[in-house]
Amino acid sequence: MKKYDIIIIGAGCSGLSLAYRLLNTNINVCILESGSRENRIRKTWSYWDIYQHPFSILENNSLNNICCINNSSFVKLNCERHNYKSIDSRDFDKYIFDKINISKNIEIFFDTSVDGIVAKDNYVRIKSNNITYEAKDVYDSRPSSIEASMYQVFLGYYINPLSSSDEVIPKLMDFTQDNEFNFYYVIPFKDKSYLVEYTFFTPKVYTSDELESTLDSYIKNTIGAYNLIRSEYGVIPMTPSLPASDLANNVHKIGIRSGATRASTGYTFLNIQKQSEFFVNRINNIDSINPLLTIKARILRKMDSILLRIIKNEPKRAKDIISNMFASNNDQVIIRFLSDIPSIFDILRIIMNMPKVIFIKYAIKSLINKKI
Ligand SMILES: Cc1cc2nc3c(=O)[nH]c(=O)nc-3n(C[C@H](O)[C@H](O)[C@H](O)COP(=O)(O)OP(=O)(O)OC[C@H]3O[C@@H](n4cnc5c(N)ncnc54)[C@H](O)[C@@H]3O)c2cc1C
Repeated sequence: MKKYDIIIIGAGCSGLSLAYRLLNTNINVCILESGSRENRIRKTWSYWDIYQHPFSILENNSLNNICCINNSSFVKLNCERHNYKSIDSRDFDKYIFDKINISKNIEIFFDTSVDGIVAKDNYVRIKSNNITYEAKDVYDSRPSSIEASMYQVFLGYYINPLSSSDEVIPKLMDFTQDNEFNFYYVIPFKDKSYLVEYTFFTPKVYTSDELESTLDSYIKNTIGAYNLIRSEYGVIPMTPSLPASDLANNVHKIGIRSGATRASTGYTFLNIQKQSEFFVNRINNIDSINPLLTIKARILRKMDSILLRIIKNEPKRAKDIISNMFASNNDQVIIRFLSDIPSIFDILRIIMNMPKVIFIKYAIKSLINKKI
């Protein structure tokens, strides 16, 4: 039997972020990852630079404006104070794996899938590949098997344009192409390549094949002919309620599994960073508040539940409501709101600028029925 102080299940964003903060401490940690070391899923994590975290050194892109466009409005969000930054998960993996390789307190086991966990008062045991791992605490980032009623489904192409056409503006949401709540996301990188994503907020999990030809046409129409560098496909469950509590006091959910995804946007990276800071404080007996359980986080979840209902039931109206939210609020308010750190006044401003009838209608529905 292998014994540790802490076992982390999953070497993805949340597992590695937590492990990073435990490097070179006297806490013995083991990470169990079902995937192999070589075949890692490569993603780009983007966010506004509004919360300090240890991985800013890895940021490979920085934008000082980004737009939200629909057929009747064009809003340029000024990000000069809080740039819109990106990290390539391949750089993140390498940075942390290199440090784990030379660390004395963290071990990582790939190709080690965790299915069952036995939790007792003083210890937790996990069996995988005929080896039993035991620890006082477990942090679990395995994707949850519970079905969500809405998903963010997206296909992204990293491309090199074949001709050097006009500069393409960064777009957070381009709603101009479709009547439903589907939009395009366009991130220009310093090396003149682009990430272009076709995103759905939907109860249906589309396959990447179903999104390919529409994404291809959009790129050809807006940027021109291109070389495909690689693609990324994602399905993120969007559940505004927090998942049921852990099966025992010493098994803690982390990452998407814990509800760290902002339901109305899919942004998760910064919440994962706040969450790993919280858990490490708790491990070190430092008083700290779980970022997912603050009053503001609860209010945001309620608002997300209302927004997701509108998106699901009235997608065309939802496009206007989101575009109007960008047009009628101050840029800093929007950035704080989307980054999960609005003040109470920001939240009030956003609510006051919403169309009242539809907001109240779906607020009442969300009070009556928790399921979207
Ligand atoms: C393509 C894509 C782009 C994204 N872009 C952004 C973005 O721009 N900004 C943002 O804020 N968020 C973004 N997200 C959302 C979120 O930040 C990421 O999904 C992030 O990787 C979530 O981290 P996680 O640790 O919860 O899950 P993961 O990173 O998926 O980690 C879970 C790990 O658990 C492992 N695992 C699964 N089952 C088992 C098992 N049984 N036993 C052991 N290990 C197991 C998996 O192999 C995986 O390594 C994006 C998501 C995707 C999919």
